[in-house]
Amino acid sequence: MFKFEIKKELGKARRGVLHTPHGKIDTPAFVPVATCGALKGMSFKDCKDVGADIFMMNTFHFYCRDEHKIVKKMGGLHKFLNIDYPIMTDSGGFQVFSLGAGWQEKTGKIYKEKEGKVSNKKKSNVIIKEDSVVFSSPTDGKKVKITPKSSINAQKNLGADIIFAFDECTSPLASYEYQKKSLKRTNRWAEQSLEALSGVRKQKMFGIVQGGRFADLRKESARYVSSLPFFGFGIGGSFGDSFGDSKKNMYSILDSVTDILPSKKPRHFLGIGEPQDIVESVLRGVDLFDCVIPTRFARHNTALTSEGRINVWPVFFKDSKKPLDKRCSCFVCKNHTRGYIHHLARKKEIYAIMLLTHHNLFFILNLMKEIRALIEKGKSIDNYFNL
Ligand SMILES: [Zn+2]
Repeated sequence: MFKFEIKKELGKARRGVLHTPHGKIDTPAFVPVATCGALKGMSFKDCKDVGADIFMMNTFHFYCRDEHKIVKKMGGLHKFLNIDYPIMTDSGGFQVFSLGAGWQEKTGKIYKEKEGKVSNKKKSNVIIKEDSVVFSSPTDGKKVKITPKSSINAQKNLGADIIFAFDECTSPLASYEYQKKSLKRTNRWAEQSLEALSGVRKQKMFGIVQGGRFADLRKESARYVSSLPFFGFGIGGSFGDSFGDSKKNMYSILDSVTDILPSKKPRHFLGIGEPQDIVESVLRGVDLFDCVIPTRFARHNTALTSEGRINVWPVFFKDSKKPLDKRCSCFVCKNHTRGYIHHLARKKEIYAIMLLTHHNLFFILNLMKEIRALIEKGKSIDNYFNL
């Protein structure tokens, strides 16, 4: 039922197929994020038609008000959403960061110099204990407790094909001492997560590598999760270095982590979706990516293109007859101008978001298709953006 095959290798890059009970995923693959059970601005079928093989949903958004129990009553996510495609759910570990330190310290998981000042006014919404995490729910402020067991039980109720162990996604600003302590906790939670899924055959779990920006902790984490019987591995957490070159830190850590992870098991880079990062990560042996970038950018009038990002809001787009991206063959680029999409965005038409979402998801999914074809042909993807 579940199997991961590597068809071809090119350096560290791999062209593979991940088999699940709801279908196969050609890798390297991008996993569009349907947070609460819907892609924001596109149907699952349309997204499948432009190349998506699998979708990611966030357990936390089904957790705070016990919605996962309703989903179970409705027959699980596949029945509830009425889709027959492979689904992944994350564990809620990312929200430990995004609602906690990330919110308090005003930073994303990849540290940028201009970010990262702890605001004294902001009190963290998250309390991390040895056995659990307690959140203030973003919807009603109610206290919500998550443990490894409760996260996995919720993921069992949701019934996704691939689920993730519960972890703590740390801040890029966290100290070495904190990261070390957190890693020990995440390792314990990994074992508890596996135990909570024991006996279940129709779902498989990915363990998560943490350790922040510190190479020795990342290696320790990779060795530890590799020793456990996970089906695959997620690479989570934050990156950044004292010189502000967070991408360099991310790529070098990725290199050392993928050297340690078992070569025959799939690897998923959590929350990464910038086109350049995808190419660099595939070169370092990553098979799967998920990210809200294509859909979130669309809601902010932004298109991903072969020439970089384009925001269609400025007035000079009003009479542009160009497509969003002249190299793109999506429905939007074949039929509509930047001028029309600018007009819809200015009029706050939902269709502007739908068109940008369609294009952005097509763009990323097509990038993955081209990467797969290059690996198959044995052609280097190092210079993908200069081809
Ligand atoms: Zn397009």
